[in-house]
Amino acid sequence: MVKLAGMNPEELGAVAAAAGLRPFAARQMASWLYTKRVKDIDGMTDLPKKARQWLKDNGYAIGRHEPIMASRSADGTVKYLFEGVAGRDIEAVYIPDHDRATLCVSSQAGCRMGCRFCMTGRGGWQGNLDAADILNQILSIPESETLTNIVFMGMGEPTDNIDAVLRAVEVLTAKWGFAWSPKRITVSSIGKQPGFGMLLDRTQVHIAVSLHTPYSTERLSLMPVEKAFPARQVIETLKKYDFAHQRRLSFEYTMFDGLNDDDAHADALSRLVRGLPCRVNLIRFHRIPGFEGKPSSQERMEHFRDRLNDNGVTATIRASRGEDIMAACGMLAGAKAQQNMKEENEQS
Ligand code: SF4
Repeated sequence: MVKLAGMNPEELGAVAAAAGLRPFAARQMASWLYTKRVKDIDGMTDLPKKARQWLKDNGYAIGRHEPIMASRSADGTVKYLFEGVAGRDIEAVYIPDHDRATLCVSSQAGCRMGCRFCMTGRGGWQGNLDAADILNQILSIPESETLTNIVFMGMGEPTDNIDAVLRAVEVLTAKWGFAWSPKRITVSSIGKQPGFGMLLDRTQVHIAVSLHTPYSTERLSLMPVEKAFPARQVIETLKKYDFAHQRRLSFEYTMFDGLNDDDAHADALSRLVRGLPCRVNLIRFHRIPGFEGKPSSQERMEHFRDRLNDNGVTATIRASRGEDIMAACGMLAGAKAQQNMKEENEQS
């Protein structure tokens, strides 16, 4: 199957020419894909019937597929499960919040970064999503038309699948695509190069860097990526870009009881990010099997936040959403994979 979703006007032009259509058909197709959001080729009703048939006969499809499961939280958060790659389902989480409606999307089926505290990382990597798979999460949820923001914070490390992520961002922000401001998009990353530099150079989206501790040896014990791409190096890279105006920078800091939540960590973190216009998001840890870390108490998180603020670093505690539906990254797909495995074992 050749997916049309994710193609730019030049690529659509080549498809149109092969289908015997005039060049302007590329713009019509882009409009059907990204403005009118058709689900199948027959929905492109101003293309001649013969051309639509040619597209279908030659293996073209829009690349849309509905979620296979939805779990709705008491707080309005909805976790959607989509068919992913190589048998690994992927997740997207819809988070309504007053006048905002954010969708957290996945960029990979699984992840190969191996962060020890992450359910997705523990499940390994099954494959990359293509741009159509990423856009499908945005287009195929019932709340699609109401979305105000997209965050790439679901399964996978966006810079490890940078071509598909850049293409998805291009479609979201181009005039011929969704025509969104890049200010409505945030990409979270551990800072893997060369994808991280490409993300900074080629887009204007907001950046969130997963830090989790200011100390290199400690970060290495939590995140193997620290070895090849140390946080200090990531921060040096960030200093070359402008985050004082339109584009925003944040650091993600998951808080573990007795591990990274004392005053010394707060002060070292303040020193590390000094000079960068940024915000630190403190994240409550959700326990996962096989990792000994425990969540910090609410009091500790508040004290840590206040200490950062006193040090001149803007810090906030991110509200936990959808805890009753396992909305944390990788948990629903992980639970479903475990259930499948259990059923297979019972059958054999
Ligand atoms: Fe991958 Fe992010 Fe999980 Fe680390 S925290 S393993 S980068 S999905």
